[in-house]
Amino acid sequence: MKTAIIIRYCEIHLKGKNRGFFEKLLKENIKRSTKDINCTFTTMHSRYLIEDFDENDYEIICEKLKKIAGIHTFSPALVVDNDFTQIEQAVLELCKEKEGTFKVATNRADKSFSPSSMEASMLLGGKILETYPKQLKVDVKNPDFVVNVDIREDGKTFIYSDTVQCISGMPVGSAGKGMLLISGGIDSPVAGYLTAKRGMKLDCIHFHSFPYTGEAAKEKVIELTKKVGEYNGGINLYVVSFTHIQEAIHEKCPEEFMITLMRRFMMRIAERLAKQQNCQAIITGESLGQVASQTIESITSSNSVVTMPVLRPLIMFDKIDIIEIARKIDTYETSILPYEDCCTVFLPKFPAIKPNLDRVIKAESKLDVEGLIAEAFTKIEKYVL
Ligand code: ATP
Ligand code: MG
Repeated sequence: MKTAIIIRYCEIHLKGKNRGFFEKLLKENIKRSTKDINCTFTTMHSRYLIEDFDENDYEIICEKLKKIAGIHTFSPALVVDNDFTQIEQAVLELCKEKEGTFKVATNRADKSFSPSSMEASMLLGGKILETYPKQLKVDVKNPDFVVNVDIREDGKTFIYSDTVQCISGMPVGSAGKGMLLISGGIDSPVAGYLTAKRGMKLDCIHFHSFPYTGEAAKEKVIELTKKVGEYNGGINLYVVSFTHIQEAIHEKCPEEFMITLMRRFMMRIAERLAKQQNCQAIITGESLGQVASQTIESITSSNSVVTMPVLRPLIMFDKIDIIEIARKIDTYETSILPYEDCCTVFLPKFPAIKPNLDRVIKAESKLDVEGLIAEAFTKIEKYVL
């Protein structure tokens, strides 16, 4: 008796003529993710199948599938020949450790197979009751679990009951490419995860201020980026030195605009790098009104220096909901590690909460914006994670 994994997708069903494009991409993403594991991969109308793997690799495969955008659910299944005795054995094996109520649902694509679907369900149900009289009872209306028996035309029968929920969404790469501004905080990794989940492939940019922010702060961002990368089929991180820009702002501009001006530099640099890397959007972890730099006036100020679309997946999320996702994708514990971020260095006592754009532009005119950006581009480190 062999084990297989049946994989189902979700929204791709809604696609029309270009459905093949999404199916092919999802297939490639699954294959790439499992390339180091010995297994076979096949397509069976609107579903995929992983077979012939070592039992010890089962959990590893499951963990990988749970991080692939576009997969809705998967089910571990037992696979036998279209032979009633073998099917019966597999059904009993499947129910061995189960308790509660059940029903058997047989689907017979191989119409030459005897008994019929209805009879097979009744016979198998009877056998289960006879074998496990204490633990199991039949309930056809509202069972605790369903024993699915899928008798296929190619001579194989799949028997399964458990369904594991995955992240759904759309295959990564189906919605273009974006540049995520990733800080060491809670929000930006969540924004990255949500973007990858909707099919946008990500690159990341992080601004650090050595020596004000140390090696540990950078390591933290690398760790967070890696975690986002698990949903993105790997990820590139570009680390930009922000120290001189911050020092210049600190020296030449009113303190209240420190963060506002930093944000404008971040956006400009991110857009330029995004263009170089063929990205079509910038993504941030901003959430409306969360802090002074995320009021609509602050967002207007940072948005006005770029023309590329800026996607803010968390803009209307409450912190509590963001934290819930951060826990789910396992970034929360890393995000709350207490290392400095460049935004906490030179933090003004009273930042402008509603910065006036004319005054911001006037303050910025004291700086050699182009020179500072050009210098930042000479010191970009790239990490392939
Ligand atoms: P996060 O939003 O990631 O939890 P945070 O709340 O400290 O961190 P803010 O300072 O509010 O972040 O910044 C808002 C957004 O700006 C972040 O979500 C991120 O997209 C971007 N950002 C902030 N600091 C950096 C940085 N050092 N490098 C890259 N992007 C940054
Ligand atoms: Mg934030």
